[in-house]
Formats: sequence, C-alpha cells, structure tokens
Amino acid sequence: MAIPSLLSAISRRLEGKVALITGGASGLGKKTAEVFAHHGAKVVIADVQDELGHSVRQSIAANTAQNNITYVHCDVSDESQVKAAVEKSIKSYGKLDIMFNNAGMSTTLQPRIIDNNIDDFERVMRVNVTGVFLGIKHAAHAMITAKSGGSIISTASAASCIGGIGTHAYTTSKHAVVGLTKSAASELGQFGIRVNCVSPFGVATPLVVDTIGVSEEEVEGMFNSVGNLNHATLKAEDIANAALFLASEEGRYVSGLNLVVDGGFTVVNRSLPLFKYPADN
Ligand code: NAD
Repeated sequence: MAIPSLLSAISRRLEGKVALITGGASGLGKKTAEVFAHHGAKVVIADVQDELGHSVRQSIAANTAQNNITYVHCDVSDESQVKAAVEKSIKSYGKLDIMFNNAGMSTTLQPRIIDNNIDDFERVMRVNVTGVFLGIKHAAHAMITAKSGGSIISTASAASCIGGIGTHAYTTSKHAVVGLTKSAASELGQFGIRVNCVSPFGVATPLVVDTIGVSEEEVEGMFNSVGNLNHATLKAEDIANAALFLASEEGRYVSGLNLVVDGGFTVVNRSLPLFKYPADN
C-alpha cells in the first residue's frame, strides 16, 4: 500500500461506512457522531431533541467538510420510528454498517426501592432496554438482508457490572443491555454481524449534570474522587473511541463483549483496611 493511502487508512478508520447513532444529539452520542464522521463514516443522528439534533448535524458537517450527515427524529421506544430511522439510513446512503444504540435515560435519584414508582421504572426500561432491542432487531434485519455483516454496539454502563451506582431501574436496564448483547451476538454471528456494548464510568454529560444538578467540573471532581485510575478524567471522547474500535476493522473478531471503560472502578474494592495502599493515606 502506498504511504498516503496507508496514512489515510489509519486516520480514517470508517471510510465508506454508514452509521446510525441513537441519542446522537447530546453527550456521548454527539461525540461519537463527531469521531465517526472524522473517520470518514456517513452518519445518521437519531434523537428526540430535534432542534439540537439539527444543529449538531450542521456543526459536524461544517467541521468535517463533508455533507454526509443526516438527522432523523426517532423515539427509540417506538418500533415504527426505529424501523423508519434504519430505512432512512439505507435510503440516504445505500446501506447500514454500524448501529450504535446509545440513547438512554435515568429516573430522578430515588434510592429506596419502596419509594420507586412503577411508571418511572417502566419508562426507563422502555427506553434503555426496549429501545436497544428494537435497534438491534431492525439493524440486524437490514444487515441480514444486505448480506453485508455489520457492527451493532449499545451503550450499557458501569452500572451493568455492580449495584449501588445507579437507580434500581437504571441498574436493571443496563444489566439487561449486556444480556441482550450476548444473546444477539450468539444468533447474529452466523451472518457476520458483531454485537457488543460499551460500559462507561461517569462522564459529565447533560444526563449526569442535570440529574445531579451541579456543574460539569463538580461532576468530574466527584467521579475522580471515587475512581480507581488516578491522573485521568473520563471524557466523552474515550467512549467514542471505544465505540470506534468496536465499529472498525480493528475490532473485526470481537463479539459479545461488554467493553467496560471505567479505569478499573468495577473490578476493585479496597474497602478492607488490609488492602490500603500508601497512596490512600
Ligand atoms: P445525554 O443526556 O447527554 O444524551 C442522551 C441522548 O439520548 C439525548 O440526546 C436524549 O435526547 C436522547 N434520548 C433520550 N431518550 C430518547 C428516546 N426515547 N429516543 C431517542 N433518543 C433519546 O446523556 P449521555 O450521558 O450521553 O447518555 C448516553 C448513553 O450513555 C445513555 O445510554 C446512558 O445511560 C449511557 N451512560 C452514560 C454515562 C455517563 O456518565 N454520562 C455513564 C454510563 C452510561
């Protein structure tokens, strides 16, 4: 391979690919849309925040100097809208290679299960679990029909690994995303379709900032104070890069994985005094 095309292959890891990103108007989805477009993908942003979605589409198109970015209104809890978003991607760009089921929500902080309300619980399950199920279903249908293979990625959470860091509904929903990922990976491998999820620790996106009601800096300070990895702050770009790995050729043999991006937070518990390190003092 000539050096310029080699460099282009390295720097544009999704050249010619088509990606649909739900929850793409804000936070992790928005950053992933930027990174995917930067790597040459044609991107369809799907969200319920239409004004924001259109302005994100415009700014990515301007920054990447390409026009292959589209916004579509899509409530992921509504099957007809998810089906229409997949169809829109194919109509606009001819195919669907990458589905990123990223849209998600939480309830207001309500720690005691006896205070939890069934409507709130079901609302979270409807978006975070049913939404992911519908995204996998309709993306898989398009990819199987095209005999093209593909990469389906969903956003779970560090709350998919342990309890006590999210509401009951949120923790339940994110554990379910991991189960659904493994179940779909087991079926769709025969079609060359890889199915994975990404599990972030805390990132100061509007979801977290608005739920907790403090500034972005305070949110980052709070996560850093309990995180395992010192001298690093988790940013939306770290999650976008994890999704990029799963979407690109570098991840071509990875399927059924929950890629936890948490600096070791969920595999470490140093509460026993026996395992205090000098740095803790
Ligand atoms: P965010 O609020 O910035 O973005 C979420 C986006 O999803 C918003 O644009 C919102 O409009 C959209 N959305 C919500 N309900 C929708 C629906 N029914 N249909 C379509 N779009 C809908 O939050 P974020 O932090 O970027 O969240 C993205 C994903 O990351 C979520 O699944 C969230 O659970 C997960 N996550 C976030 C963190 C974090 O610390 N930020 C940690 C772990 C997991």
